[in-house]
Amino acid sequence: MSGPVAIGVDLGGTKMVAGRVTPDGMISDLVTRPRPTNAAAMLIEPFEIVASLITPSTVAIGLGVAGLVDSRTGRLAWGPNVPGENLAFGDLAEDRFGLPVAVDNDANYWALAEVTVGVAAGFDHVVVLTLGTGIGGGIIFNGEVYRGNAFAGEFGHMVVDPGGLVCTCGNRGCWETLVSGRRLDELALRIVEDEPEGAVAQSAGGDRAAGRHLLGPALSGDRAAVEAYHQVGDWLGRGLASLAAVLDPQLFVIGGAVAEADGLVLGPARIAFQAALEGAGHRPTPTIVKRQLGATGGAVGAGLAGHWLVSNP
Ligand SMILES: [Zn+2]
Repeated sequence: MSGPVAIGVDLGGTKMVAGRVTPDGMISDLVTRPRPTNAAAMLIEPFEIVASLITPSTVAIGLGVAGLVDSRTGRLAWGPNVPGENLAFGDLAEDRFGLPVAVDNDANYWALAEVTVGVAAGFDHVVVLTLGTGIGGGIIFNGEVYRGNAFAGEFGHMVVDPGGLVCTCGNRGCWETLVSGRRLDELALRIVEDEPEGAVAQSAGGDRAAGRHLLGPALSGDRAAVEAYHQVGDWLGRGLASLAAVLDPQLFVIGGAVAEADGLVLGPARIAFQAALEGAGHRPTPTIVKRQLGATGGAVGAGLAGHWLVSNP
């Protein structure tokens, strides 16, 4: 690839995805690794990937991290799904590589990628939700990422069920306890307990049942698997209606592993959303769509943010 390239890294709750990103959002030379397992490794392993991708045409680095990231200081304050706190990613990367470094929440970068080169291109008011290990979120407000004072968009930790399940953040009944890959894992385990000879148990094939074992059975019409997606979709739609009441976006973009079930989750979500939307029928209804950019969206957005830093020093 000729021309300027930024290295984009997405450090998520489960894995890291990185690649070389052009100014128009094309990504190549993809690298995928497990997420570092402790705080010390958090400050080493992402930079090993950067070092392996860097070339003379590299002009910037972008790093998205799943957690509370202050994009002004380039620090991760804390994250419920990643180890370590107050990690100075930006300073470390600048010292080591001598290039401009953009650091932000990974879902903000995903949102940036979707409105720049993805399904939300041309829209000014967009909410992007990544349903992975937990729920990541990014808000596009008047065409730009909205951060509030620093950390806006942590939708997963809106409390929707005060007496509900304990969340990784310490609260009870957060939205992501009901709408996430982790929730589908729990539902899959429960189904296998109830139906040890059922389609989901067969799909797991003796492994510990997880959300990924639900898709095949659900697509074949297995009632328990379809119902699991329906439950998650229903809670997704109700939560989106609350977000619409506050933010009134034109578009909700849904990504992450849970969104791969597509209509199995988004179908029930659209129905629950319409039922719960304040003033439905008297307002433009925000559209709920599946993401365009797949597992590389966060890395693409990180690279685009790196290019943006170069042109707006
Ligand atoms: Zn929480």
